[in-house]
Amino acid sequence: MRLAKHLAHAGVASRRGTEVLIRDGRVSIDGKTVVDPARDVDGSERIAVDDELLTPLTGKRVVYAVHKPAGVVSTAHDTHGRPTVVGLVDSDHRLYPVGRLDADSTGLILLTDDGDLAHKLTHPSFEVPKTYRVKVRELPVSEGSLRRMREGLNLEDGRTAPAQVRQAKPGILEITIHEGRKHQVKRMCEAIGHPVVTLTRIAIGPLRLGDLAVGGVRRLSAAEVQRLR
Ligand code: URA
Repeated sequence: MRLAKHLAHAGVASRRGTEVLIRDGRVSIDGKTVVDPARDVDGSERIAVDDELLTPLTGKRVVYAVHKPAGVVSTAHDTHGRPTVVGLVDSDHRLYPVGRLDADSTGLILLTDDGDLAHKLTHPSFEVPKTYRVKVRELPVSEGSLRRMREGLNLEDGRTAPAQVRQAKPGILEITIHEGRKHQVKRMCEAIGHPVVTLTRIAIGPLRLGDLAVGGVRRLSAAEVQRLR
């Protein structure tokens, strides 16, 4: 198996994340740094990340839902010392966030040590819908503006796919997209002339944030994880 995939299966990070770790020279095999994510491994090697030996895969994988507060970053580590979502969860598992929310965004983010599930939920080819509740400025928001978002609009990195958009209350939009480009929802709202004031993710696929309190954490049941697969 490719080294990057092996590390993702071991729960070190997403596949893309493990490729970066390897290229950055943070992974060694039998004491020697390896920078090729495609290096073939069979599981018999002593593999270390940041000099910490990988523990063999045992036990069950876990998935936690977290209600990310504003000001907390959704990376596993932050070079500026800001609090991370991983720091909100008390677990023996080596967890990493599934996808990203901007530091000033709030809402549902999943943490897991299951590389396959993380890949399925984040890779654009699986088109997993994510729903955001946003408060925007410059009211009223016209039906024509909502239609532009629904039909797709031009951003500097290309046209967005059709989105589901409804105005729950004046200036409060619920937007469902399945692309996940950087700052996509904020840029879509900006493009129709309604900058975002606050943004909360309220659903990932079939899983809803529900009444999980800000900063709250709960472990998903096996049935909930199954529905995400
Ligand atoms: N879109 C954004 O603009 N920000 C987020 O945090 C998530 C989606």
